[in-house]
Amino acid sequence: MKVVVAPGDGIGPEVIAPAVDVLKIFHPEWEYSQVYLGYECWKRTGDPLSQTTRSALKEADLILFGAITTPPDPAYKSVILTIRKELDLYANLRPVFGAGFDILIVRENTEGLYSGIEWQEKDRACTIRLVTEEGSRRIARFASSCARRRRRHLTIGNKANILKSDVFFVRICQEEAEKIGVSVDKKYIDALVLDVLQHPERYDVIVTTNIFGDILSDAAAYLEGGLGMLPSANIGKDHALFEPVHGSAPDIAGKGIANPIAAIRCISLLLKYAQERENAKIVEAAIQKVLADGVKTPDLGGKAGTKEVGEAVIKEIIRIREIPEPDL
Ligand code: NAD
Repeated sequence: MKVVVAPGDGIGPEVIAPAVDVLKIFHPEWEYSQVYLGYECWKRTGDPLSQTTRSALKEADLILFGAITTPPDPAYKSVILTIRKELDLYANLRPVFGAGFDILIVRENTEGLYSGIEWQEKDRACTIRLVTEEGSRRIARFASSCARRRRRHLTIGNKANILKSDVFFVRICQEEAEKIGVSVDKKYIDALVLDVLQHPERYDVIVTTNIFGDILSDAAAYLEGGLGMLPSANIGKDHALFEPVHGSAPDIAGKGIANPIAAIRCISLLLKYAQERENAKIVEAAIQKVLADGVKTPDLGGKAGTKEVGEAVIKEIIRIREIPEPDL
């Protein structure tokens, strides 16, 4: 397997380092390479995403992505949005789980309000919220198939009371869910965000459009203690990219205190995607043990640094792997 690692900006390199170390425990034989991209790369070279990097990403079997800084400058195009579009990574999966709840947020990743169709005029600026039939059907099929393998329920997060494009999105999601045979309910996104925080146990799979999924998952991170905890998988027909939900966190970059759990959990998602469910479970079990032992970064109320948490997880994974299989 070819694994391409893109650490990116800010805390990206800090949290990706222990994640790569974790993956190498399971697969030292895989081929690893690193690419440079993002804001720092743009400052150094004038190009945030070179042709060489694009080619390397296209040739990868698996991509591990840290985080990037995107300045609010109309001339600068978000690197991660470009990659998601170029590799057609249409499904963004963001699992959120804890005591008594297990939610999978499935966010449409290539269109909606992040369509990239936007322009600025003298006295106004416009962004097109693009919702296509093809884009909606494939994300609805993906989310419904996930629900079928879980608790067979799909919630459609939407704002169809206001947006015609969401009347369209909801209808298509309902049609696909019916074909796949999972039950459906619809919730307006503003009320849904609050209900997920108050009653997370009510939800199984939630499907929604691009920006709503982005906001919903950041808010849902509260259920797990913050943004440093949530991983995500960006899945397409031919490519898969794994990245923490959080950004480059410039306020804590370089201090050695970023929480690496979201990045390490990306390895658990990556291993699941590679059909290695037992290994994925070992990563999660190790994380749970380390947190239970109180080895936590300051965002979770602890005193440990990024390296210390990473090393504790690695030690625990090695310990779990050394426990002999029961002789049945
Ligand atoms: P952010 O996720 O970087 O940070 C939000 C807050 O959460 C900050 O206070 C930060 O310190 C904290 N935080 C985030 N990750 C953490 C971690 N692992 N451990 C401890 N604390 C953590 O979001 P932001 O501040 O809105 O954006 C900063 C930059 O990141 C911007 O340039 C934005 O465009 C970019 N961004 C990139 C991505 C991505 O790479 N996919 C996603 C979101 C934001």
